[in-house]
Amino acid sequence: MDLTTLERLPLWIGGAPVAARTTRYGEVTNPATGEVIRHVPLGNADDVDAAVKAAAAALPQWRDFPALRRARILMRFRELMDAHKKDLAKIVTAEHGKTLTDAEGSITRGIEVVEFATGIPHLLKGEFSESVGTDVDSWSLRQPVGVCAGITPFNFPAMVPMWMFPVALACGNTFILKPSERDPTLSLRMAELLKEAGLPDGVFNVVHGDKEAVDAILAHPGIKAVSFVGSTPIAKYIYETGARNGKRVQALGGAKNHAVVMPDADFDFASEALIGAAYGSAGERCMAVSVVVAVGSAGDAIRDRLASRARKVSVGAGNAAGVEMGPVITCAARDRIMGYIDRGVDEGASLVVDGRKPSVPGHGNGFFVGPTLFDNVEPAMSIYRDEIFGPVLCIVRAESLKDAIAMINGNPYANGAALFTRSGHAARAFQQDVDVGMLGINVPIPVPMAFYSFGGWRNSLFGDLHVHGMDGVRFYTRGKAITARWPDDGSEAPGFHMPLMG
Ligand code: NAD
Repeated sequence: MDLTTLERLPLWIGGAPVAARTTRYGEVTNPATGEVIRHVPLGNADDVDAAVKAAAAALPQWRDFPALRRARILMRFRELMDAHKKDLAKIVTAEHGKTLTDAEGSITRGIEVVEFATGIPHLLKGEFSESVGTDVDSWSLRQPVGVCAGITPFNFPAMVPMWMFPVALACGNTFILKPSERDPTLSLRMAELLKEAGLPDGVFNVVHGDKEAVDAILAHPGIKAVSFVGSTPIAKYIYETGARNGKRVQALGGAKNHAVVMPDADFDFASEALIGAAYGSAGERCMAVSVVVAVGSAGDAIRDRLASRARKVSVGAGNAAGVEMGPVITCAARDRIMGYIDRGVDEGASLVVDGRKPSVPGHGNGFFVGPTLFDNVEPAMSIYRDEIFGPVLCIVRAESLKDAIAMINGNPYANGAALFTRSGHAARAFQQDVDVGMLGINVPIPVPMAFYSFGGWRNSLFGDLHVHGMDGVRFYTRGKAITARWPDDGSEAPGFHMPLMG
């Protein structure tokens, strides 16, 4: 199926594309041109129910496959994703707007989770204790949860779903993906590649949609676990509603990631790293750096370097050669980000680089915002408080590392934070005292590798377990403990009271 020529996308249920039952459709635009390129069904409760039925029917056989056999299917899927990476990246760029190399990089990060999940025979091994009582042994198993659902954001249409489904499938669950309605096509291509890799029909399903489909997922008694990644208000809603309906939920939310620059840092290295971290993917990354906390004399030095480099960022269509930063996702997103820049000026921050009038010849209808840099930002300002999710970087001044850490810990978001320094002592204090889920030391975007787990604290995550790595295996499995004895003739049976000794 050549998905890119379809006017209306199908759902993917039971191993095949199917027309949605809903009559509501949304528009998918190319953010670089502003053109509507296809329409996406906004699934309803009947669509979700059809996917749950397919996933439930496929569950018994898939759960009982030896883990090694499940892993081998994922190995083939890994090879197919890798072989098609360039074409997959084109789909991401056409609907999201990020550059082709960035899109390819995000697919590589997703593939790494598949690689982790192929180790599932080892990862699912339980524990065994011999003779926990007289002639009694005990052991533990981890078993799949059942039908799981993933609800994902627009900013990583390949990588974020791949944080979830490879681990869920490897553990023996079946899965329903509700991708973002803004860039939905890649999910269908991944479904096709999973089928080509040998995945049995019904094990992986895609239902497109918006709040209506999400609410149907949260209400459906057949869905046992929900993984969500998106903005904080929706993450909180998903967590509360899913938990109220008896589901296991992990809901990753928004972010406001700080990078602290110490006076002893290598400013050239730090500024170059921060430019990519702030403006890469037009700032639409949950691990993007949106606040630089400049300590003491670092302030002017880092501001001047950032300003000079920000003015040189090449802005354009993500598929054009030499472009470093593409458009933002929608016209509404562009207007919201522009509104924040206006507000920052009104609130008294110093606008050092103004991205409100980017020049992208031939793309007058694209959703572009240029790199924007504010200095002298105060914690009370809306550009500091809110997640802008665009190419806007704020510099806040602090007197000491202690003040910088207090600022980070006072922010409601706690996804990532970074420190630039040459001091091991400062690095250690940062690591010990910052209350944030993922930290970088001279690393601006400290996204953990697939064999570690990804997640924030406070308003950046609702739930206990992070995604992928061993937390992912724990989320998608339930523990079971077994205690057994094999009595011989004449063995003494357990009595009335609890055992006084083993
Ligand atoms: P979003 O919250 O608007 O949408 C995420 C998902 O929720 C989508 O599938 C969408 O269809 C659905 N949704 C939207 N509104 C809903 C509603 N009212 N009720 C139920 N479901 C709804 O997020 P987005 O704009 O697609 O993505 C950007 C956000 O995601 C940013 O806040 C970013 O920080 C966050 N994000 C976080 C992480 C992380 O790991 N913490 C990773 C990527 C993105």
